[in-house]
Amino acid sequence: MQKLGIYIHIPFCLRKCPYCDFYSTASHDKETRERFLSALCKEISFYGGRYGKDREVDTVFFGGGTPSILEAGEVCRIMSELRRNFHIAEDAEISMECNPATASYEKLAAYRTAGVNRLSIGAQSFDDDVLKTLGRLHDVKATRKTVAAARRAGFENISLDLMFGIPGQSHETWQETVKQAIDLRPQHISLYSLEFMEGTPFWKMRESGTMAETEAEEDRRMYEEALAIMAGAGYHQYEISNVAQPGRECRHNLKYWNLDDYLGFGASAHSFIENIRRSNTDKLEVYCEAMETGDFSGAVDFSTENTFMDNVAEYMFTGLRKNEGIDLEAFLKKFGRSLWEIYGPECRAEFEEYVKGGFAEETERRVRLTLEGMNISNRIMAIFV
Ligand code: SF4
Repeated sequence: MQKLGIYIHIPFCLRKCPYCDFYSTASHDKETRERFLSALCKEISFYGGRYGKDREVDTVFFGGGTPSILEAGEVCRIMSELRRNFHIAEDAEISMECNPATASYEKLAAYRTAGVNRLSIGAQSFDDDVLKTLGRLHDVKATRKTVAAARRAGFENISLDLMFGIPGQSHETWQETVKQAIDLRPQHISLYSLEFMEGTPFWKMRESGTMAETEAEEDRRMYEEALAIMAGAGYHQYEISNVAQPGRECRHNLKYWNLDDYLGFGASAHSFIENIRRSNTDKLEVYCEAMETGDFSGAVDFSTENTFMDNVAEYMFTGLRKNEGIDLEAFLKKFGRSLWEIYGPECRAEFEEYVKGGFAEETERRVRLTLEGMNISNRIMAIFV
């Protein structure tokens, strides 16, 4: 049976963080949530009828927003709807993003009972001053409490998100954050550099000169320092921003990087299935109304059929994010032609320049970026897109 990933976007947060441009709203009451959940269940049921019979769902990912804002009963309701409409594999990876400001032992235990088996906790930093700068609603103590509660609730697969390149964050506090994260022995860690996304309060502060962006060189050093500490503690990097203990790579995110099929449900969710890339509207009202009236296409903001070259370029762009890079035989099998047959001698010569410079590697079996190459990944990937 064909495999399928499912992404559920929960568009609610307790409060907007000043650096974040993910689609979510902090203004929601019980009624709005109820309306959204009913709409979400309708969408699941509609697409379940179309794709649910001959596919096995092996990953589910609750993202957002703040999915852990949901009450246990609300998560149970979504999981029941998924199970009613799709074959969920017994060993499916079912992840949920969790904000420490919203988690309690009781809630986490109920999520676990509902089938969630992987928690991705938004720790961001183990320094309270840095957390304040980020405008986060939790402190370090709350993160530690959440990890302990998750373990007690039976979660054996925990990931922590960490951020670096934050104004005022020193190398020492960053290294301390990495060490403290490792001390909690999560199975997986994601590390992100702070980006100033257009329109966010942080972006406005940078534009007005009241907040300074970390120098690129500094940012890179922080990234490399963290990877070195993590490698020493047994975490291997498998993607630009992700490290894991052996066998604990995020199976859902690997689907994005391997160009596998996934369906996204909820306002602003994206899908890639049967060669169609689709995104839902990020207007909650429009989304809910479309689901309520049964006009499912009314919730679609963008939809396009990928061409052969779209697929090749996306496969390269996302595949090179992975440490193992692109397996040339798998590429040939997927596209029917070899990599360099498609891209030709000019692209190959360009890529070879990066190989000579130590930024990339090419063997008989694969092409990949080195750690230095990951630092300038966008430039190298541009060859293929
Ligand atoms: S909790 Fe997460 S999704 Fe919500 S505003 Fe903050 S960073 Fe964005």
